[in-house]
Amino acid sequence: MDKPTFVISPKEAESAANQLGVSVLQLLPSLVNPAKSFARPPISKFHVGAVGLGSSGRIFLGVNVEFPGLPLHHSIHAEQFLVTNLTLNDERHLRHFAVSAAPCGHCRQFLQEIRDASEIRLVITDPNAAAADPDADSDGFLRLGSILPHRFGPEDLLDRDFPLILERHDNNLAISDLDPISNGNAAELKRTALAAANRSYAPYSLCPSGVALVDCDGKVYRGWYMESAAYNPSLGPVQAALVDYIANGGGGGYERIVGAVLVEKEDAVVRQEHTARLLLQMISPKCDFIVYNCH
Ligand SMILES: [Zn+2]
Repeated sequence: MDKPTFVISPKEAESAANQLGVSVLQLLPSLVNPAKSFARPPISKFHVGAVGLGSSGRIFLGVNVEFPGLPLHHSIHAEQFLVTNLTLNDERHLRHFAVSAAPCGHCRQFLQEIRDASEIRLVITDPNAAAADPDADSDGFLRLGSILPHRFGPEDLLDRDFPLILERHDNNLAISDLDPISNGNAAELKRTALAAANRSYAPYSLCPSGVALVDCDGKVYRGWYMESAAYNPSLGPVQAALVDYIANGGGGGYERIVGAVLVEKEDAVVRQEHTARLLLQMISPKCDFIVYNCH
């Protein structure tokens, strides 16, 4: 891979698999090392790549991202990046993924927000981990359930039919003074952030939020807050929008982000504003940041 490509179409995936004489599933581990090269871990220097196959046949990449100057819990893990990439592209299921190192407990937990998470199959490409694992199938894939027994997940807190993280939902949020037809960057950012908040997955706090970012070329990125039943692995809306920026921004530095809009509820028990401001100030000090409250 020459330039960062974080989504591979079914046609490209099949053609790459044919060239290597393998199945699309077997292609996943071979994409882990190229994915690792896109990671941004300036603190740990430990590159992680995760490569997932969606039910649409598309392949999605995820990498780890760290932010110097901020507490470590602002980091994005590769599996979280992967799930965010799936949601940004309307992928409804993740059945298989390959990852360079064994998923940490935080990621095993975050992945529980996907329907039937225990049945997701993963392969760990670190040769030590894979060879030593007695639960792996002959193809090297493990059930996620085998590495997170006695799970705590959405079914412990939500109704069984509640739409989970990859499933279609709309939070029906509105901003009272939003002009639907006005033009210009500011209006577009506001609309984009509201649309993102409407796709936010916040079933535990009921405090959805969304972020829109704009870079110095005027290109807009978006992401939404996603919660975990275990709370701490939840991913903030700026982090999610940075996934879009890293995946689609051509590999540039964060200082290219010049504007940001956050939309969240005025009476939110879980508020993103202060954390979002902190993160944006650290990665792009000149970025304008505006917050709109929705209802
Ligand atoms: Zn992790």
